[in-house]
Amino acid sequence: MSIVVITGCSTGIGHALAAAFAAHGDTVVATARNPDTLADLAEAGCDTLALDVTDEVAVEQCLREIGAHHGRIDILVNNAGLATMGPVAEIPAEQVRRQFETNVVAPLTVTQKALPLLRRAGHPMVVNMGSVSGILTTPFAGPYCASKAALHKLSDALRLELAPFGVRVVTVQPGGVSSKLGDNAAAQIDGWLTEDSAYAPLRKAIYGRARAQQKGAMPAADFARELVAALHRPRPRNVIRLGTGSRLLPFLQRWVPIPRRDRMLKRRFGLLDWKPD
Ligand code: NAP
Repeated sequence: MSIVVITGCSTGIGHALAAAFAAHGDTVVATARNPDTLADLAEAGCDTLALDVTDEVAVEQCLREIGAHHGRIDILVNNAGLATMGPVAEIPAEQVRRQFETNVVAPLTVTQKALPLLRRAGHPMVVNMGSVSGILTTPFAGPYCASKAALHKLSDALRLELAPFGVRVVTVQPGGVSSKLGDNAAAQIDGWLTEDSAYAPLRKAIYGRARAQQKGAMPAADFARELVAALHRPRPRNVIRLGTGSRLLPFLQRWVPIPRRDRMLKRRFGLLDWKPD
């Protein structure tokens, strides 16, 4: 039985993962910005704590409580994340900063501060939730793709650097998994994409990209069950790809020549024959 700490459990993958680890018999500490969203997980036996991963003081406080109650962390899942979408030429810098604070800086901060508790475990593991979007860049998702690519690289470095301490680091690169990620991304675009935008004629494609990963997405409960099983193997893989398109998109990145891939992506997102005013 492992002590598992998960960030971003209000909805989607985090919520499903907490339930799946609990069903597996692990002790789960499910965290979220709004702990009211964790009521059903508490009923299922999870410990629940409030945590905004971008708030360093809150991270320290949360880890103190976990240390006091459980004494160690076997598995830390850096799951909390958001997707900043839209044309790179126009996305407000503040949104890009928030993207990197949440998806890149926060998982590192949580990992750094959790290390003393991880090192108290027999076979500790850090699980970073990357994305296939960190491998294949699509139009209108630049900050999100860049943040996940950065997380993959930092996760690679952590894997090498934490190995001497006995801490395993696993990067998960999901494809499409049912969650609120797309709706939240679209709602964020609502805040700044106006009719004056040079890309206004492509609004449909921009919003289409924000919600693209939800089309035919793998149910979060199935994804979580498979991931929990994969993480509990005696020797988990360093990189785990699961979810709709999680094999196809890396294949396109690796094997399709750039001009051909660009044409495919431009066509898919309305950029191929579009002539701006
Ligand atoms: P989701 O339903 O939108 O869940 C995102 C979670 O992250 C929510 O619990 C959200 O909490 C939380 N979060 C965001 N900012 C936070 C912060 N500052 N502090 C604490 N929690 C925060 O989307 P999801 O798909 O389950 O996303 C989970 C992870 O999977 C993300 O890292 C995402 O990039 C990754 N991923 C998802 C897919 C997919 O197809 N769904 C594919 C590849 C990768 P609030 O409710 O408070 O906003």
